[in-house]
Parts: sequence; structure tokens; C-alpha cells
Amino acid sequence: AKQRGKAGFVRYADGMREPVLAHMQLGGELRRALENDEFRVVYQPLIGLDDNRLIGVEALVRWHHPTRGLVGPAEFIPAAERTGLIVPLGRFVLRETCRQAAAWLAEFGPDALQEAGLNVSARQLHDPDFVSDVTTALADSGLPCERLVLEVTESAVLRGQQVSRALYELDRMGIRLALDDFGTGESSLSLLRAFPAAIIKLDKSFVDGIEIDDGQPAAADARQAVARAVSQLAQALGLATVAEGVESAEQVAVLRELGYTVGQGFYLAEPMTPDGVSRLLACQRPV
Ligand code: C2E
Ligand code: CA
Ligand code: CA
Ligand code: CA
Repeated sequence: AKQRGKAGFVRYADGMREPVLAHMQLGGELRRALENDEFRVVYQPLIGLDDNRLIGVEALVRWHHPTRGLVGPAEFIPAAERTGLIVPLGRFVLRETCRQAAAWLAEFGPDALQEAGLNVSARQLHDPDFVSDVTTALADSGLPCERLVLEVTESAVLRGQQVSRALYELDRMGIRLALDDFGTGESSLSLLRAFPAAIIKLDKSFVDGIEIDDGQPAAADARQAVARAVSQLAQALGLATVAEGVESAEQVAVLRELGYTVGQGFYLAEPMTPDGVSRLLACQRPV
């Protein structure tokens, strides 16, 4: 069932994993859920590691199922991708995120939020209407292009001409593209040459354990090697970085040493309702 914690944090119960939806006609269920307006967007802050300020947010979709309660994306995004419903669902997340980000900028001023990011599936990138969906969402909301970040994974980018054309067009419009889960794919490095990325999101798996002292001098520390290399690579290519899945103060300290200035993770801030973000923005509004 849904849990609503302090400060508008929303979490779904782990116990709900596979068995719940495995036997459902997910395609039909998802279509019905879209019509019934059961999807909601929560936002996880991206936080400056030096000053703890909110830099931006990442939009994450949730399904408020009438009987199952709060369902996380791991349980329905794969089915939405298989059935193609990710296209209308993704369009909903896009429009909602642009609308919400523009509302925050209007309420809290132009410095409140540098970026609002959202996840884009391969299937959406292949949709011939994707670029016009993005331009329409921006125009309807009034959100400036440069505040929008589209997060794509390596595997999504690697498929086809249609995809690169869309990505270059979005880049030309001033929309920033982030490579999500960076380092987990098979061709991260060649991809960086072929793709107009502005931001690298270092995958959580390279942040996990980064704080553990293995007794080696820093330069030889294997746990830190990938995070360090990615940071140096990003710097050389003029790309921004975000460290994902930051879960402790010790990790923040190591990441800062390695050159990371922005992080995302439960230690810094959990995904929260729009109201939760508004409260954070109200706190850090300059007086
Ligand atoms: P992602 O894009 O890598 O998003 C980050 C995920 O890591 C989120 O899970 C977030 O809640 C979780 N996370 C953040 N900080 C921490 C941490 O410190 N520790 C741990 N253990 N986890 C952390 P969530 O919301 O369950 O989303 C899972 C995935 O579902 C996302 O991974 C993304 O691939 C996909 N997804 C979510 N929303 C959308 C969407 O609107 N469209 C599409 N296409 N995919 C989405
Ligand atoms: Ca993401
Ligand atoms: Ca990620
Ligand atoms: Ca060490």
C-alpha cells in the first residue's frame, strides 16, 4: 500500500515486486490507467555537493493503482515499452514535467531551478512525432528549452538513424541530453563521439562502495577508478556530470574529491511530490 512519509516523500513498498502484476493483462491495464489519470510524476532533486542547493530535478513516474496502491516504474515501464504505451505515457510525463517546472520558475524565480530532466525510452525516440511533442510541450508550458534535460540510455541511443536525427534536432534547439546510467552499456566511449550529450550521469553501481577504504593510495583505489576516469573524461569533453545513487556523507566527500559537483540520491533527497519540491524551493529562496 501507499506510504506517505515526511515532507511529501512518496515510496512504494518493496514487497510489491513481481507477483502483483505478473498475471495481469498489463497492456490493457496500462491503457485503462492512462485514461483514468492514475499516473503521477514525482521529482527527485539534483543537489550541489558543495552547497547542498537544489540544482534541478528528475521526473520519475508512479502509478497509483486503485487496488494495488503505489506501483513503481520497474514494474510497468518494460510492459509499456513492449506495448508501445510508453509513447502516450511518456508524452504525459513530458507535458506534466514541463508544466510543473515552468510553474516553479514562475513562483520562485528564474534561479530556482536550472533544469528539469525526464527519462526517454528508445521507443519514444523512434516515434516520428517525438520532436514535435517536445516542442509543443515547451511552447504550451512556456518552459525555456535550456531548462529541459532529456535522459537517454546508451542502448536507446544506439538504435538507428531516426534516433540520431531526433537527438541532433533536439540538441540544436538547445535542449540538453544526458546519458543515463553511464558506464553500464557496452560502448559508452564511442557513443560520446557520436552523440550530442551535454551531461553524463554516472551510474549508481560506480558510486556504491566508493567510500570504502581499501588501504590503497588514492590513485590505486580500484573502487574509485571508474568514477575518477568518468569525471576526467567529462571534463576533457566539456560535459557536466551527475553522480547517481548517493547514499551517504562519506560518498559525497569522495565524489567531491573526484571532481563531482552535482549528485542525486537518497542521502541528498528522495523522490518527492511537487509540494515537497515547492517546500524546498521556498526554503532556499533568497530573501
Ligand atoms: P533512473 O532513470 O536511473 O532513475 C533513478 C532511480 O534510482 C529511481 O528509481 C530513483 O528513485 C532511484 N534512486 C535515486 N536515488 C537512489 C539511491 O540513493 N539509492 C537507490 N537504491 N535508488 C535511488 P525509480 O523511480 O523506481 O525508477 C526506476 C527507473 O524507471 C528509472 O531509473 C528509469 O529508468 C525508469 N523510469 C522512471 N520514470 C520513467 C519515465 O517517466 N519514463 C521512462 N521511460 N522511464 C522511467
Ligand atoms: Ca534517469
Ligand atoms: Ca540512472
Ligand atoms: Ca583508498
